[in-house]
Amino acid sequence: MLNPTYCFTGKITCGCCGMPFSRNTRISKGRRYIQWVCRAKKELGMHCSSVNFSEDTLEAICAQVLGLPSFQEDIFMAQVATITVEQNGNLLFTMAGGGTREWENLHLSRYRHTTTVTDAFQDKVFCAACGKPYHRVKCAKKWIYWYCIGKKRTGADQDPSHHGPNIPDSHLRRISAYMMGAEELNDEGFKAQVERITVQPDGSMEYHFTDGRKAQWQKT
Ligand SMILES: [Zn+2]
Ligand SMILES: [Zn+2]
Repeated sequence: MLNPTYCFTGKITCGCCGMPFSRNTRISKGRRYIQWVCRAKKELGMHCSSVNFSEDTLEAICAQVLGLPSFQEDIFMAQVATITVEQNGNLLFTMAGGGTREWENLHLSRYRHTTTVTDAFQDKVFCAACGKPYHRVKCAKKWIYWYCIGKKRTGADQDPSHHGPNIPDSHLRRISAYMMGAEELNDEGFKAQVERITVQPDGSMEYHFTDGRKAQWQKT
């Protein structure tokens, strides 16, 4: 049986060392993890410090870059010539029809358990599904996340995925900085420039700026 996700074979090159990326399957606690890694990491005597990508993440990124609601192998094969994994984790897409597109890696997983507490998000973040505001909560007395208050009023028989997902404060800071074109979030600037953020059930967000502008952030 052919695995349809092998469409990445030969398409991905490491920007650190020039080797191709190859597919890696690992079984851990009965679960199967599929990753794409620089081949230099598997070769004896070779080393590379490039970022690995899970196959799910790669598919989600490709869908986002190609403007598709979900990954479609035939469209990917037809439109993308090569992908280069840059040193900072960004992906540079070279399109079959010419031109390039860049996907910026916000390295959110690195920030997962960073404790930040941002008052500026208060009364700014709303669930797109139920319209209720996001509230802040402390998780295991360590890190802070935001959740839709509407979830609390949902009965146990109802699916919590009908609301926007929980978002760590540190992720919201990173995404908001990116949406405002900055490296670090300026809390006062955020309060002045962002009117509200609406969170979709799939985790994507719409930023409504005070000057009337709207911008979309897509979760990968
Ligand atoms: Zn490499
Ligand atoms: Zn909600």
